[in-house]
Amino acid sequence: MKQSTILLLGSIALDTIENSFGHQKNLLGGSATYAAVSSSKFLKPNIVGIVGSDFSKTNKKVLKNSCNNIKDLIIKEGPTFRWGGKYFENGDDRETLFTELGVFENFVPLISIDNKNPDYLFLANISPDLQLNVLNQCIGNPVVVLDTMNLWIDIAKEKLLSVLSKTDILLINETELLELTEVEDFSKASKKAQSFGPNTVIVKHGSKGSVCYTGNMVFSLGVIPNLVVKDPTGAGDSFGGGLVSALAQGLSLKEAMIRGTVLASFCIEDFGINALMSSNIKEIEKRRLLLLNTLKS
Ligand code: AMP
Repeated sequence: MKQSTILLLGSIALDTIENSFGHQKNLLGGSATYAAVSSSKFLKPNIVGIVGSDFSKTNKKVLKNSCNNIKDLIIKEGPTFRWGGKYFENGDDRETLFTELGVFENFVPLISIDNKNPDYLFLANISPDLQLNVLNQCIGNPVVVLDTMNLWIDIAKEKLLSVLSKTDILLINETELLELTEVEDFSKASKKAQSFGPNTVIVKHGSKGSVCYTGNMVFSLGVIPNLVVKDPTGAGDSFGGGLVSALAQGLSLKEAMIRGTVLASFCIEDFGINALMSSNIKEIEKRRLLLLNTLKS
């Protein structure tokens, strides 16, 4: 199988989660962490990010084991990025309780020469400023995959549109898509998002699955049924990590979406990265076969 390289940028965080299953503090999280752990089941990315002096050795080991190299992971005096979220009764929707950027606030990445020429660049959810900075440092012509969130659409839309103009594949959830495009109909909104740059727009509909708009084609995928959702945090990032790993291995967009969905399905079965970490290739394959039947074009 083809083995390309992936450069991954995103947050590395200590998360506090409140939901009907309990209250957990300082869980290892962040968009880059979920994406790295997910991708590493098949292909280890090279990570770009920063953590503070409070980041434990155990957490560092998780990143080291999930990545091909951590040359561009900076450890700096100060607090690690922290995020707190509280889920509503329906288990899907949530509110952000706090976002403390910590050492991410003044982070200016300088990508090492070895990591500058990736085949795939996954700009996971983080400020568009940082995404553009890393994108501009890359040489060659990587396939650019971008994820974002409402916060950046609200406070940094112009910068986000600049990153989008250089993006090949946009991963976005339905509320973010409507906010980004200001169009209510998903299909029309996706067309508008494609007009911003990316040839492919993948819309994540949570427990309803996902829809891929690529060129003039559309296909959709369901989800793994009957799961006990303990903590949906990081599902989108795990989806992205799985998807990029499959593309980098030369698989089709459909197979990549299936892999992303399977890895997201493990992620949500426990708090933090626990279930994702303990999933194995045999179980992943079993869920892949289940999902194949839900593919519709
Ligand atoms: P998801 O559930 O896929 O939206 O991702 C949740 C992860 O995103 C958590 O682990 C958070 O640490 C991280 N996160 C939350 N807010 C931000 C932000 N503004 N920028 C980057 N990462 C964030």
